[in-house]
Amino acid sequence: MTDRLPDRMRWCFRALIRAVTFVIRQLLPENAYRSAQSRWKIIRTNRHLTRILGPEFRRSRSLIEIDITYACNLNCFNCNRSCEQAPTGEHMSLQQIQSFVDEWIWEGKVWDRIRILGGEPTIHRHFFEIIELLRSYRRAYAPGTVIEVATNGYGERVNDAIRKLPPDVNVSNTAKQSNVQRDFRSFNVAPIDVPGYRRTDYTNGCFVTEICGTGLGPGGYYPCAVAGGIDRIFGWNLGRQRLPKESDGMETELKRFCSVCGYFKRLPEGPLNGPVKSQTWEDAYTQYRAGRRHGRSECQRSGTN
Ligand code: SF4
Ligand code: SF4
Repeated sequence: MTDRLPDRMRWCFRALIRAVTFVIRQLLPENAYRSAQSRWKIIRTNRHLTRILGPEFRRSRSLIEIDITYACNLNCFNCNRSCEQAPTGEHMSLQQIQSFVDEWIWEGKVWDRIRILGGEPTIHRHFFEIIELLRSYRRAYAPGTVIEVATNGYGERVNDAIRKLPPDVNVSNTAKQSNVQRDFRSFNVAPIDVPGYRRTDYTNGCFVTEICGTGLGPGGYYPCAVAGGIDRIFGWNLGRQRLPKESDGMETELKRFCSVCGYFKRLPEGPLNGPVKSQTWEDAYTQYRAGRRHGRSECQRSGTN
């Protein structure tokens, strides 16, 4: 962003803040420090401060998450892909994934990690073909790339698929047992509906864009895979059809998606025992359902595999 300070000056500001934080930590009792820390997290996202310090989180260019399907066999409350709130069979076709992989080969793109998820990825009709397609890409062009499947580990069909995976594919199994995930965040409580986020610069993103990386789904590329799931509901059609450049911070997309994404909120939350939604999300789901009733077909946005 051209209106931000030079990197050197920004580095100095950051170092100063780290030093002040260190001193405050020594002076304040633990509770007072935690409360000050929470307040600071919100202040850090303020527009003016962001202009000085730059964004708090940066999209990883070496990690990618691919939502191959938004279908799931376990409809958890507060799912960050809206599998429970707005069930669908929408998915990526094999052909669609192949064309994205072809682009990586053409561009010489080598990922450190490709994570396959959804929805529940193992219930995609062509799950094993997709795995093979990615393994071929790795064999020929990116021998160091980690391929990982993130699964809910729920039910016989899913576990059977996991057992059949080749040993060179990693599995991240959350082993869910029910549709209540008490440790989930309030994904459907939009920061724009919560006091305290009025002067926020949403290009700050959150940890997801940094540690999970670029997202790819039926709609294209996003600053994170969660954003692709948000786009499915809001219908903004902001997915990029070409791989974003290394220099591309995807600020326009972050501004839009993070403003409604509950993961952006900086304050600690208690456990969730059931669904929680703010008005923006209530309205979005109502419109999504109305759109489907009026014939906005899933086939318009997904492949036909
Ligand atoms: S298992 Fe994961 S994708 Fe499926 S509903 Fe639960 S949170 Fe969503
Ligand atoms: S859309 Fe949500 S998960 Fe993605 S970077 Fe923004 S706040 Fe984080």
